[in-house]
Amino acid sequence: MSTNGNAAAARERIERWVRPEIRALNAYHVPPSSGLIKLDAMENPYVWPEEVVEEWVSALREVSLNRYPDPAPQQLMSRLRDFSSVPDDAAVVLGNGSDELIQMIALALAGPGRKALAPDPAFSMYRMISLFAGLEFVGVPLRADDFSLDTEAMLRAIEVHRPAVVLLDYPNNPSGRLFDANAVRRVIEAAPGLVVVDEAYQAFSGASLMSWLRDYPQLMILRTLSKMGLAGLRLGLLAGHPSWIAEIDKIRLPYNINVLTQVSAQFALGHRRMLEEQAARIRADRERLHEALCALPGLRVQRSHANFILFRVPDGEGDRVFAGLSERRVLIKNLGRSGLRDCLRVTVGAPAENEAFIAALDEVLKGG
Ligand code: PMP
Repeated sequence: MSTNGNAAAARERIERWVRPEIRALNAYHVPPSSGLIKLDAMENPYVWPEEVVEEWVSALREVSLNRYPDPAPQQLMSRLRDFSSVPDDAAVVLGNGSDELIQMIALALAGPGRKALAPDPAFSMYRMISLFAGLEFVGVPLRADDFSLDTEAMLRAIEVHRPAVVLLDYPNNPSGRLFDANAVRRVIEAAPGLVVVDEAYQAFSGASLMSWLRDYPQLMILRTLSKMGLAGLRLGLLAGHPSWIAEIDKIRLPYNINVLTQVSAQFALGHRRMLEEQAARIRADRERLHEALCALPGLRVQRSHANFILFRVPDGEGDRVFAGLSERRVLIKNLGRSGLRDCLRVTVGAPAENEAFIAALDEVLKGG
């Protein structure tokens, strides 16, 4: 069959068999970044000292690649529990990144008429995962002026939609806003199903609701090592009531955490001070970046509790500023296409990267 014939035949079957909601989705877009100053993905810019890298490589030599990984690595789990201050009576399950854990929750709860509810904007995978797992997604707008949680709107939406799961990123991506804890408490108390508080950026906010697991069996807390300089490992943790975790664990593929990740994460958690020092540096870098952004004319800069900063450029300028930065080899995130008009999000990089970004932004703004 000709290439054209193949394409037509593939198309025909895809239209017949792939679910319409999947066909309507766009795949999660990761833009090419080679040769660019990469400030688009909330990565930690700092690497480990050479002697720590040597020690890590020695640990990797012990790995048995011919064997399947331990499906429930006790030592790693106990280090992670300790690192994340999981209460003793809560249980945990590990994921290949925290997004796999969100997917496991969605798969456990999905069904006709079942809904997931989250603030809007929020981490974009909440919507994507809900849709492909088979949950209807309801987004409740944050307040337009400061991205705070509109508690009354959330409570009304919970009443109307009776969601199987409420997802709250705490702090919120992309605004960096840390929701008021009392507002979160009211959401937890009103929700008829599960509430997942996603603490992906906890290292930079210093705030956690982990201890609330003792009071609310319907609460689960999500953490990730990605923002601690370990994005390449893909390791997330979900903590919650043991009966809930036992249900979620049934969805987990048997060996979802590979051996290299297990050994590397366990090694890294043994260097807890180093990870915490990097996070503290990033918090200090964030404050300097915030001030530098505030000093540029015409920007509205959102105060952030995470390792990124959201800012709004003058009306209608979003795409031009984003393109101007890309031309100057600086890659950040343009949120204009996700409904946040003229909003851009920059990840806190190393000081030299932040300076290069500010210099490029200054130039682009002046050129407008
Ligand atoms: N939660 C939030 C709020 C995020 O912003 C992200 C990553 N951008 C994740 C979860 C996913 O993190 P990972 O899968 O790397 O653990």
